[in-house]
Amino acid sequence: MSSLAELRPDALAALHGELTREYEALKDRKLSLDMTRGKPAPEQLDLAEGMLALPGNRDHLSEAGEDTRNYGGLQGLAEVRNLFAPVLGAPAAQVIVGNNSSLALMHDVHVYALLRGVPGGTKPWSKEEEIAILCPVPGYDRHFALSESFGIKLIPVPLTGEGPDMDEVERLAADPKVKAIWCVPQYSNPSGETYSDAVVERLARMKTGAADFRILWDNAYALHHLGETRPHLANILEACAAAGHPDRPIVFASTSKVTIAGAGLAFIAASPANVRWYLDNASRRTIGPDKLNQLRHVRFLRDLDGIHAHMEKHRALIAPKFAAVEEAFERRLASHGFARWTRPAGGYFIILDVMEGTGSRVVALAKAAGLALTPAGSTHPYGKDPEDRTLRIAPTYPSLAEVKLAADAVALCTLLAACEKRMAG
Ligand code: PMP
Repeated sequence: MSSLAELRPDALAALHGELTREYEALKDRKLSLDMTRGKPAPEQLDLAEGMLALPGNRDHLSEAGEDTRNYGGLQGLAEVRNLFAPVLGAPAAQVIVGNNSSLALMHDVHVYALLRGVPGGTKPWSKEEEIAILCPVPGYDRHFALSESFGIKLIPVPLTGEGPDMDEVERLAADPKVKAIWCVPQYSNPSGETYSDAVVERLARMKTGAADFRILWDNAYALHHLGETRPHLANILEACAAAGHPDRPIVFASTSKVTIAGAGLAFIAASPANVRWYLDNASRRTIGPDKLNQLRHVRFLRDLDGIHAHMEKHRALIAPKFAAVEEAFERRLASHGFARWTRPAGGYFIILDVMEGTGSRVVALAKAAGLALTPAGSTHPYGKDPEDRTLRIAPTYPSLAEVKLAADAVALCTLLAACEKRMAG
């Protein structure tokens, strides 16, 4: 089939007629499918079912003899910090184990920075007239919504396939109003890209207008490979320390997509000064984290090999779903020339770039056919994609059979919207 751009009006009208008939047939099937969020499927959660019986049998003492049923232990059990230290790229002394949500830790870092300021700063961020955060796009909507909700201005920066456009980041970060940057450095949500060594190095070294600039390094997909290859991600804590900016990065991660989403463990890793700062603030917020859950996690995962073996089981469940989406896009869209999509080596998302100006239409067409997609624009600050073309596809939650159906339906809606646009213009 020739590319859409080359079709003559009569061929275009014929294709449109054919796609419309297919679309009407799709609607008649009254599907109810959801590809909106990157949630683990029930089978993935089942993988950690055995953890729910742990620690059990009066097993509640930590290695240091702490009774994990009681208050205290703000920084987290030493054995849990030791277990995850290599994942976070920090010594265990610089790791904090929080409760069930890394997003909640990112929220708290915002609140403490705004109300009390951060090490290296002269005043709370909220006392500045205006502050801004750099947002690599396409990015994670909950990051953007969190910063926006506190009145922080969101400044988009394009991603390049190996991290943000660093010329742009360096230019923007020279402004003292710019206090931070969001980063999902490995298998980025949603582009799937991993930051190159050169990008990490420039982030570490760059001159910033704000002395208390922070890199919010959300390594949510540190362990989440889809294939055999393992990406190399440079250590941001070491790079920043070597560049004389040890307090610049704050690393986040969680086991939401390792064990149980909603009842996992969340982590911070940072410089000694940032760790003291965070714990000092957190000590006013809580008497201590859920250490029983921490114990449960070490008993279940045991060691680094245990973590990787567990992640292999996830991979076996979700890699075929990603392959099914790619197959449908390849089969339906490749020959038409206008759409692009990612083939991620890890993470939870695929990006589908549809014909410019048709993103919202594709989502509306899918919705009317019983398929919920993340709203067009949600990958951009303030929900505004100026090109209205980037869609985030989340294939993990539905069953494989549903993913096949849904991916085919997305491709059909993408084609139909593109035909409509060409016929109108
Ligand atoms: N960060 C990123 C980049 C994510 O994709 C997600 C989950 N979709 C989260 C954080 C949420 O993590 P948690 O469950 O630890 O709050």
